[in-house]
Amino acid sequence: MTVAFVTGGSRGIGRAISIELGRRGFVVAINYARDDVAAAEAVTAVEATGARALAIRADVSDPAAIEVAFTELDALGPLSVLVCNAGITRDTLLGASTQVDFSRVLGVNLLGVVTCCREASRRMVSRRAGAIVTLSSVAAQRPGRGQSNYAASKGAVEAFTRALAVELAPRSIRVNAVAPGIIDTAMTEELQALAPEKLVERILVKRLGRPEEVAKVVGFLCSNDASYVTGQVWNVDGGFKLE
Ligand code: NAD
Repeated sequence: MTVAFVTGGSRGIGRAISIELGRRGFVVAINYARDDVAAAEAVTAVEATGARALAIRADVSDPAAIEVAFTELDALGPLSVLVCNAGITRDTLLGASTQVDFSRVLGVNLLGVVTCCREASRRMVSRRAGAIVTLSSVAAQRPGRGQSNYAASKGAVEAFTRALAVELAPRSIRVNAVAPGIIDTAMTEELQALAPEKLVERILVKRLGRPEEVAKVVGFLCSNDASYVTGQVWNVDGGFKLE
């Protein structure tokens, strides 16, 4: 059995992805930042699919911690899937923001992806097999007010994903991004509370997405069913702002 590593897998979209990959027969390593209880619950949820799962605590913005996390992974079996899902927001108008906020968002959302992809690609290249999925956002193309840091990080993730697909294609490793719209998770709680009817107005299917609906697309991209798909950004957004 091969191993899938999901960053930020203890809750929200990452938790749903971990369960989906468990269903698809991977050994699932769930990375998380702080919440031991949520991580243990996510492990139990993945195990309920019949898969083996374990939680690995590490901050994706800390390269030394991520190096240790990947060494732990090596004991589980060959790594065939990496999902770079961990992400944060620090929405503020640029004039009111600090360099620290901007750096933190780029540190987690972009450099965290870079570090995990570097570690994963080193392992996948030697086996000449693997799939990597990064999480972008609708904000990369259609940002809201106060999202300059987040939009910059996700735009960079999309460019990085395409560049890595070019680099790894000769080694039979596929690299794609998924760009969710507004999904019902803790990340969007505040936004949902502010103006729920305004949010839905901007979505063709007139509702928020569910984490499982993103996870299905990620699961597909990680599987051999997507063997001819690389270097793409897949929108999973219910038709966000097409009207
Ligand atoms: P969430 O806040 O519910 O979960 C984020 C996860 O990332 C948590 O498990 C958290 O512990 C983890 N995380 C945060 N910082 C970390 C770090 N430094 N190291 C390790 N783990 C860390 O968010 P979500 O809504 O599930 O979002 C998941 C991904 O999808 C993110 O990349 C987000 O930017 C993206 N996304 C979400 C939405 C949405 O509407 N919810 C829309 C577009 C994109």
